[in-house]
Amino acid sequence: MIVQALQTGVAVDIDGTIASTVNALTEILQSQGVGPQHFRPNTDPECPSVFIARNPHLQTTLDQMVRTIFQREEVYQAATPIPGALEGVVALQQANFFRGYVTRRPSHLQKVTLDWLQSHGFPAGDVLHVKDPSKSTLMNQLNARCIIEDSFHEVWSLFTDHHGLLIDTDYNRLPLPNNVTRCNWQAIARAVG
Ligand SMILES: [Mg+2]
Repeated sequence: MIVQALQTGVAVDIDGTIASTVNALTEILQSQGVGPQHFRPNTDPECPSVFIARNPHLQTTLDQMVRTIFQREEVYQAATPIPGALEGVVALQQANFFRGYVTRRPSHLQKVTLDWLQSHGFPAGDVLHVKDPSKSTLMNQLNARCIIEDSFHEVWSLFTDHHGLLIDTDYNRLPLPNNVTRCNWQAIARAVG
């Protein structure tokens, strides 16, 4: 199932799929006096917040701080690769299935994104910045009918003739549509290896 989807050409999401900004975000929050005593990770796929404030009255303030920090390039420079992602994307490129990256990062972050991909050894490729409700339109531009994603909402909004491979995380465990398969990077590397 996984290999059939990958053979149709694959686009790769960046945040939460190959790059984690959580540590960088946490460090910047701590430098502003906000630490783990104030929040915990969000594992509810229905809630868009990255962190949940321990005091519910402070949720709006915390969300605003996180949004402001996500405008800063340093949080993307300091992102760490998701375990297994590098080996997985390299294997996809060697198998000739890899078509490029599709991200919701705003386009002014393209240079920092390309620099990060290169410095961590990820295969070079187009980085397309999505604004549409569905990533499927840009997948078509890349000639990819499959996407590797961590977001439950992104795989739900794919066109039905596209396939999603959802990297299993503790924040995306909800029932999936028929065109989506839950998996992990190790399974992807095995499927093409
Ligand atoms: Mg993502």
